[in-house]
Amino acid sequence: MRFELLPPREQIVTIMQRIYGYSMTTTSGGNLSMLDAEGDMWITPASIDKGSLTPGDIICVKPDGRIIGPHRPSSEYPFHRAIYERRPDFRAIVHAHPPALVAFSIVRKIPNTKIIPQAHYVCGTVGYAPYALPGSQQLGGIIAGTFAEGVDIVLLENHGVVAGAGSLLAAFQRFETLDFCARTLIRASTVGEVRSLTDEEIALSGERGEKLPKFTPKSQTTAELVLRTKIVDIVHRAYDQRLMTSTEGTVSARVDADSFLITPFGIDRKYLDIGDVVLIRKGHRERRKEPSRAVRFHMSIYRDHPEIGAVITAQCPSATAYSITAQKLDTRTIPESYIVLRDIPLIPYGEQFGDGAALSARLSGQVPVVLLQNDAILTTGRDLPQAFDRLEVAEFSATALIDTSPIGEMVPIGDEALAEIEIEFLS
Ligand SMILES: [Zn+2]
Repeated sequence: MRFELLPPREQIVTIMQRIYGYSMTTTSGGNLSMLDAEGDMWITPASIDKGSLTPGDIICVKPDGRIIGPHRPSSEYPFHRAIYERRPDFRAIVHAHPPALVAFSIVRKIPNTKIIPQAHYVCGTVGYAPYALPGSQQLGGIIAGTFAEGVDIVLLENHGVVAGAGSLLAAFQRFETLDFCARTLIRASTVGEVRSLTDEEIALSGERGEKLPKFTPKSQTTAELVLRTKIVDIVHRAYDQRLMTSTEGTVSARVDADSFLITPFGIDRKYLDIGDVVLIRKGHRERRKEPSRAVRFHMSIYRDHPEIGAVITAQCPSATAYSITAQKLDTRTIPESYIVLRDIPLIPYGEQFGDGAALSARLSGQVPVVLLQNDAILTTGRDLPQAFDRLEVAEFSATALIDTSPIGEMVPIGDEALAEIEIEFLS
């Protein structure tokens, strides 16, 4: 979907539904705005249920201050106006009070975005604005002053967060990614000490799949077309279950001995379409498409492991909490976890870059899942359902382990019981 071609009213309603639908705002909280090419500001109304907003509810504020629409504009209109004045590069602003970011805002700490490379790319540096009365000119001045320092997202003390960008989708992605960091960091705090990436380490992840040589496919087999729909379905399910964010998470599936399909770079996961999925054949990428940055190690895995038919890398908050603290994700929780996941090794940061051969060599029938330090969980399977089941089970297992923290100490399944499981299910 070409989201940017939707008119402002439709864009605002779609993103507000997304924020409300994924529990990142309440009925009364949060507001969005956009500036169009004529300088008109489109903004959510005050005191209207965010769960049932329609395009007709969106207010247009003309450059001369005239208000067009059936309601009053958001009570936070003053800070939207003030931010646009200080940041002419912004065309959209997203503001809400999601619980995890509010938690950071009320302990007055800025969430660390250098926990995985993509989060730092999307959010950039996070600013901090001291408290002022909601709706006041003073609050507008403080927030706009913080944005004027060059940051693209600001945590509001005892309030929430504001993200700005050149488009509404980009502002939303920034907002959602900071919320992902907050949720992950809260989980990680019960697991161990968080390891931050250095700027040099973040730069390592920059190489993109656009450098692969191109080819033009002559025709498409039915098997390929079926796999495209399955990949899109898995990505949408993973996004809906918060196992992926809008800008991160890669799914690939083998078409035949020489080729596989993989999700693209830079396309919002919620709006992924079958035509966006990229065919890779003999190391070449489909013309006019850019594959996910993870394409090189996915390629190594398909080359080295003929039995593997699908690979997923994803940033699920609980599994990522283990990845950023470099703690062992113990699968001896319930038989299902151990049977589906086996032991999950932690792979040191950096091995997933370059040609990915070393990472591929870590995988085997005994090791179908690995945790990539400060990056993602990687699952493999004979097909997409098996790789996706492993992703879900890994995230459920990590969540259960984290949930033990206030109630008691986890007691792993004993060696004897494990040996019994090996004989019954795994040999
Ligand atoms: Zn607010």
